[in-house]
Amino acid sequence: MVRSPTAGTPPAVPHAPEPTANGSILDSIGDTPLLLIEGIRVKLEFLNPSGSIKARIAAYMLERAEREGLLRPGDTVVEASSGNTGNAMSMVAAVKGYPMLVVMPRNVSAERAAISRAFGAEVRTTGDFHVNDALATVEELGRQPGYFAPRQFDSEWNVDENRTWLGPEILRQLPEHVVPDAVVGGVGTGGTVVGVGQAFREVNPRCHVAAMEPDESCTLACGEVDKHLIEGISDGFVPGVFARHRDEIDEIIAVDSTEALAQSRELARRYGLFVGPSSGGHLLAAKRLARRRPELREIVTFLADEGEKYLTEHFR
Ligand code: PMP
Repeated sequence: MVRSPTAGTPPAVPHAPEPTANGSILDSIGDTPLLLIEGIRVKLEFLNPSGSIKARIAAYMLERAEREGLLRPGDTVVEASSGNTGNAMSMVAAVKGYPMLVVMPRNVSAERAAISRAFGAEVRTTGDFHVNDALATVEELGRQPGYFAPRQFDSEWNVDENRTWLGPEILRQLPEHVVPDAVVGGVGTGGTVVGVGQAFREVNPRCHVAAMEPDESCTLACGEVDKHLIEGISDGFVPGVFARHRDEIDEIIAVDSTEALAQSRELARRYGLFVGPSSGGHLLAAKRLARRRPELREIVTFLADEGEKYLTEHFR
């Protein structure tokens, strides 16, 4: 299936993987449902193949790298990831036939490393909780011939995908005449909240863009780095993508990790949505924003990854 952005606004770059002749799992990325839960519109990104929102940038970045001649047959793809991007890129690399090396911090959930390995990737662990050490390894390898490093934390392609694919897809799913008043997204790279925010501002220039981060590690708002429970965001540094687009962010909402996790559990029990901690954090932050700013009537956020990835950590 060929996906197209909002009618009449062709993207400057390809925004979804080209369908293969006989089809592949990559054709099933995207077109995820948008639900209305407790007054907030939630995009069910955990339903993507490989179980997260990151399937989109993985497919987009490798596809674009192929088109631009940066990724050639036989090259090894190397990426730093606290989990989801690594899993997603391992899936895409498997389909496309590239060797994949994922560099992860040592303390991410066992499932995440195992999932990448299941897709045939090599997983190297470095550093403890945050992604910083993994980044240095990737930078070093990425400079060597025979390697391609997508560099999700720095690449503008990450924003391009969200502006041209995820964002327009949500706009198409909103009821007629409804425009988004706000988007809330946790910051791993910042690509989601920045890129979707840009897409939303094309239809509502006053759209409020709110980044979410854990209270315990409020790196964006107060420069602190500490342990927290919301894997996939607040990785221990301010990523280049977020830093470059900081002036597009209207506010940073801090959410307590434990409360985020409690909200995730509630999503499974009440709505049958078995999702990870960032999803709970997103919904919590969005509901707080809605209460504080009732004039923001249409708020969109993301259920970013599936709960299965946290079985041993949080859901036993
Ligand atoms: N939630 C989860 C579970 C994630 O894995 C990520 C990405 N690492 C995000 C949210 C945030 O996405 P982004 O990198 O676009 O800021």
